[in-house]
Amino acid sequence: MDDTWLARIGAMRSSLSQPATTPIFQTAVYDFEDLDALEAVWTKAEAGFIYGRFGQPNSQDLEEAIAKLEGAEAGLACSSGMGAISAALMSTLEQGSHIVAAQGIYGGTSSLLLKELGRFGVTSSFVDIQDLDQLERAITPQTRLILIESLSNPLVIVPDLPAIVALARRYRLKVLVDNTLAPCLLKPHDHGADFVVHSVTKYLGGHADLTAGVLTGSTELIQLARRAAITLGLTAPAFDCWLACRGLKTLSLRLERHCFNAQKMAEFLSDQSQVKRVYYPGLPSHSSYLLAQKLFAFGGGPLVSFELAGGYLAVDQLIKCLPSIPLSPSFGGVNTSLSYPAKTSHRALSTEEQERCGIGIGLLRLSVGIERWEDLCAEFAVALGEKP
Ligand SMILES: *Cc1c(COP(=O)(O)O)cnc(C)c1O
Repeated sequence: MDDTWLARIGAMRSSLSQPATTPIFQTAVYDFEDLDALEAVWTKAEAGFIYGRFGQPNSQDLEEAIAKLEGAEAGLACSSGMGAISAALMSTLEQGSHIVAAQGIYGGTSSLLLKELGRFGVTSSFVDIQDLDQLERAITPQTRLILIESLSNPLVIVPDLPAIVALARRYRLKVLVDNTLAPCLLKPHDHGADFVVHSVTKYLGGHADLTAGVLTGSTELIQLARRAAITLGLTAPAFDCWLACRGLKTLSLRLERHCFNAQKMAEFLSDQSQVKRVYYPGLPSHSSYLLAQKLFAFGGGPLVSFELAGGYLAVDQLIKCLPSIPLSPSFGGVNTSLSYPAKTSHRALSTEEQERCGIGIGLLRLSVGIERWEDLCAEFAVALGEKP
């Protein structure tokens, strides 16, 4: 009968040579030579892994790389950006805690604050992050944390991070910065942020083929976040971490190109008669122009938003005339894509609320890819009905 040996196939073999890159450690559990080995690994006296949900070599590679990228002591790989934000919040807040968050943050994050944490007695206030007085007035004795994004979506506003951290310090609050939209451009820990979060799904992975998140911070904070993440089942699977590490190798090259192309596209769109308004911090007309110049290592960011004078019908027409540019409710891939915030990221808001947040029915968001910018401009010129 074959049952016994079949059940035992696939054990690791020892080898004098090493794989040149970390293989995918697709295993749910690790076996130990004896009880001493089990004890040594469990008590962290020796390096080793125990069980998939506790972490594996691929998640460790990703954690170490992003901790280094962000200049943090430690990192925690999670199954998604939302998982990373959840781990940070679940490990720092308690019943009765209050959060001050930037208005217009990622929909999943505001849902987490209001619909999930709200049921456990955690309250949240949302403020215009460009108004520091409003931010300060929202702080209560129960406030524990300020949650902001390093570049907002879709209007690409840059918060004054040094000023916000200084305010947080005065009230002994932690600052969590979601840096998904500005990797390499901004290092929030350098300005004193306690937590940095990334949706690795976007630029860090960079190829629209994985879902993961990462949280960085001090050894102490990450240790607590790791405990919460392991208990809640928020840790990352090996394959997505492996893909993320592969994507990370070209991160800074990609970001330079994304930003260079975004600047070119923003300038090009500004010259088009059908375009009512362009939002890009690399343009002097944007309210965050000076802050982007001061805080970003280079460029004005990888996203450009623009408003078509013709509203909904013009949006529909443009999308149909750009066959090579997909309508895609995400961003951060190597190819350029378009998104329509009124019907995707901000669809939960009423039309009046959308207008108040500046999300008009003619607004499109461009995730500028790494193609040749001349090709992109030519395609848009044709689609907008103008000669290049
Ligand atoms: C996409 C996104 C998230 C959530 O990330 P997932 O990987 O989808 O969970 C969080 N914050 C921002 C700014 C995002 O764009």
